[in-house]
Amino acid sequence: MYVLDDGGDLTHCIYKKYPNVFKYIKGIVEESVTGVHRLYQLSKAGKLCVPAMNVNDSVTKQKFDNLYCCRESILDGLKRTTDVMFGGKQVVVCGYGEVGKGCCAALKALGSIVYVTEIDPICALQACMDGFRVVKLSQVIRHVDIVITCTGNKNVVGREYLDRMKNGCIVCNMGHSNTEIDVASLHTPELTWEHVRPQVDHVIWPDGKKIILLAEGRLLNLSCSTVPTFVLSITATTQALALIELYNATEGRYKQDVYLLPKKMGKNRKKRQDIRSKI
Ligand code: NAD
Repeated sequence: MYVLDDGGDLTHCIYKKYPNVFKYIKGIVEESVTGVHRLYQLSKAGKLCVPAMNVNDSVTKQKFDNLYCCRESILDGLKRTTDVMFGGKQVVVCGYGEVGKGCCAALKALGSIVYVTEIDPICALQACMDGFRVVKLSQVIRHVDIVITCTGNKNVVGREYLDRMKNGCIVCNMGHSNTEIDVASLHTPELTWEHVRPQVDHVIWPDGKKIILLAEGRLLNLSCSTVPTFVLSITATTQALALIELYNATEGRYKQDVYLLPKKMGKNRKKRQDIRSKI
């Protein structure tokens, strides 16, 4: 039996609730950034009890899904939900990884003024070299028209930032699941929610200020736009290849660790740590 996971939730659930099932599991194939991160944490803690394949870091998945797909679907998602004109708009993109790079490139191409926030110095440098202003969220939050999260992190846009946004600011998430914007903090008695249409809500402050929250903080492109079947096909195929590799591997070839796909199946992205060590 093998686990085919996207986000690490199934793996997490088995670890927490049904650890005995691992007796029958021969390996895990994980597709997402966050799920892979969790697997590396388990491995580091010595708690990973089967081999796991990191599909996310294969270039076929990483580029077509995270970078190129998001470069197209960010605009599609924003247009379908808000009809906003991008030229001249001030946008802040949180996170300049693959998804962030795609979002920034698309918005810049349509004439938006794009700011980037980053916690990784190499990614911050890349954003800078690509012509984006690297800022702290607190520096720009009062005047931006659109806020986009793509970090894979939790509560990147918390209530303190939501309180300071200007009237009409559009807020959406392109990163992990529904965790990047602290939507729960907006469910308080002093704020009014106005459901405009599916996937679009106005959240209104007592002074009349409103923000436009898309997909209630869930992934904008998966909730509000189309994802090309070509991309879905590429990611599913890469996962299938990883499963076949685990299934066909000779006894002992893969130990209780996280592995990248063998080169013949998909070139792997160079780990950021490796790049850093060369600077
Ligand atoms: P990545 O690791 O390449 O990039 C994430 C970046 O965010 C990193 O550079 C990191 O330093 C930065 N970051 C982390 N916390 C931050 C914070 N608090 N403030 C600013 N920057 C911060 O990952 P990626 O491939 O870009 O994926 C990002 C997220 O998007 C993941 O959760 C992934 O699962 C998800 N994803 C979404 C889609 C989609 O269709 N919307 C597609 C692929 C991946």
